[in-house]
Amino acid sequence: MSEICIALTFDFDGMSNWIANGATSPSMVSRGEFGPIGLLRILDLLDRHDLPGTFFVPGHTALAFPDHCREIAAAGHEIGHHGWVHENPVRLTPEQERDVLQRGLTVLEETTGTRPVGYRSPAWDISPATIPLLIEHGFLYDSSLMGDDFSPYWARVGDRWTQDGPYV
Ligand SMILES: [Zn+2]
Repeated sequence: MSEICIALTFDFDGMSNWIANGATSPSMVSRGEFGPIGLLRILDLLDRHDLPGTFFVPGHTALAFPDHCREIAAAGHEIGHHGWVHENPVRLTPEQERDVLQRGLTVLEETTGTRPVGYRSPAWDISPATIPLLIEHGFLYDSSLMGDDFSPYWARVGDRWTQDGPYV
């Protein structure tokens, strides 16, 4: 019998993604309203199979659905940081990025009682400031980079490149 390892991860975004992108018509917002409904189904599925998962949650969503976030934590799942209002870090200044990182940490910790140690960029894109900020704030891992499939690797800073030279 072979053994396999998988990581079950979910984004619980609620309405934050639509608000971040200015898509706040009733129809678009209703897509976010479905988040808590889908979340409860996923929690039930994981419970029935005794599987742990990780849920990445923006701070804005934790404010909107605190009971749902507490339910995630009470079921023993990990909650990771997923921005403040699902904003793209690449579009922020380093100061703005620091602010949304700290605001998200504060609300997630106050809501669930646990300070997140994992981070997933809402845009699956990170700025040059992101990794140093994550290290500064005590994060243990990032789930935004795609340099391997299931083998963890160290996030780097300082890569250099040109279009007609080697990647260093
Ligand atoms: Zn997301």
